[in-house]
Amino acid sequence: MKLAMIGFGQAGGKIVDKFVEYDKRHNSGIVKAAVAVNTAKADLMGLSHIPEEKRVLIGQSRVKGHGVGADNELGAEVAEEDVDEVQGAIDSVPVHEVDAFLVVSGLGGGTGSGGAPVLAKHLKRIYTEPVYGLGVLPGSDEGGIYTLNAARSFQTFVREVDNLLVFDNDSWRKTGESVQGGYDEINEEIVKRFGILFGAGEVTGGEVAESVVDSSEIINTLAGGGVSTVGYAREEVEEVQNSGGLLSRLTGSKKEDDGLDTARTTNRITSLVRKAALGRLTLPCEIEGAERALLVMAGPPAYLNRKGIERGRKWLEEQTGSMEVRGGDYPVTGSGFVAGVILLSGVTNVPRIKELQQVAIEAQENIDEINEESETNLDNLIHDDEDELESLF
Ligand code: GDP
Repeated sequence: MKLAMIGFGQAGGKIVDKFVEYDKRHNSGIVKAAVAVNTAKADLMGLSHIPEEKRVLIGQSRVKGHGVGADNELGAEVAEEDVDEVQGAIDSVPVHEVDAFLVVSGLGGGTGSGGAPVLAKHLKRIYTEPVYGLGVLPGSDEGGIYTLNAARSFQTFVREVDNLLVFDNDSWRKTGESVQGGYDEINEEIVKRFGILFGAGEVTGGEVAESVVDSSEIINTLAGGGVSTVGYAREEVEEVQNSGGLLSRLTGSKKEDDGLDTARTTNRITSLVRKAALGRLTLPCEIEGAERALLVMAGPPAYLNRKGIERGRKWLEEQTGSMEVRGGDYPVTGSGFVAGVILLSGVTNVPRIKELQQVAIEAQENIDEINEESETNLDNLIHDDEDELESLF
């Protein structure tokens, strides 16, 4: 699946930068265009793979390249005012070659939190291609203001995109790790999961596959809107020479003749499907009730069989209760592992979001209280007790 990716804010820019690097490394062909947008010049300069002419600094007249801090209302205003500058960078993207837009952003800060939903709304008005969001929730230790920003941005972003794919920093952070080191690892995880998912619809070359996932299956799984989460599990395997390659095709040999035990191959797939669905999801949630799902099995062709994928798909149908579970394979020769990626779309039983909203409401009440209190305190300071003094004008 070919995407035009726009990273909004620092987290968004860094993640898209990593997607570009992943795309080059794996030759996966998913990043048709990459743009980074920010109000902070230094953040744009810190990127390595997004071309300089695709880095857009907005809000210069308001914040002079210094960023909007954690003020996401200002982030939204600035994005609204300067959306034409962002459009300028997107104008050179060959949109007819793009399957969808992906707007990536951390939701806890200011620039991306406020700007990403504004850009999504703008893109939807202009283009007919789907506009997806990839939103990163803050860790619960980041404090009330970040949680409040994220809760408000989440609500707005879901409304403006065709589907919001969510990654929750909170369930992925490790204790005792530096914040930056932690983010690097987390960003690798994000790019790996979504890279396999979107790469599945973009198989090139002469790989032999039984039923390759194509872009329309990803789009159909995401259609209908709402919130999505992604599961992943993998197992190392030994590469089988000539599996599904020219020699076996010429000799007419089947996968069973590759020396692989079909029952084992099938069982490996079903067990990876379970691990991916029941293990750590990008947004932890109850999978029961997910409206649609897509199962992608990636790996050397000899290790992917229809029976395993079909069984995994059936199991997912039972677990989610959904009638719309798609499945297919993503042949990758020389990868050294078989991986299962599961996209669960339209999830609604997500305790983490309810908790985030609760903390956000408390933070909002605290902020209102503090503001009121400081107004009263200032008033008490500048006015004499009996109100005998008058101001000049
Ligand atoms: P902005 O530049 O104002 O949009 O704000 P940032 O992107 O710097 O931060 C917003 C939120 O994104 C933070 O509260 C963090 O939760 C998260 N964040 C920041 N940097 C990264 C990163 O590199 N990776 C991930 N996964 N999250 C990040």
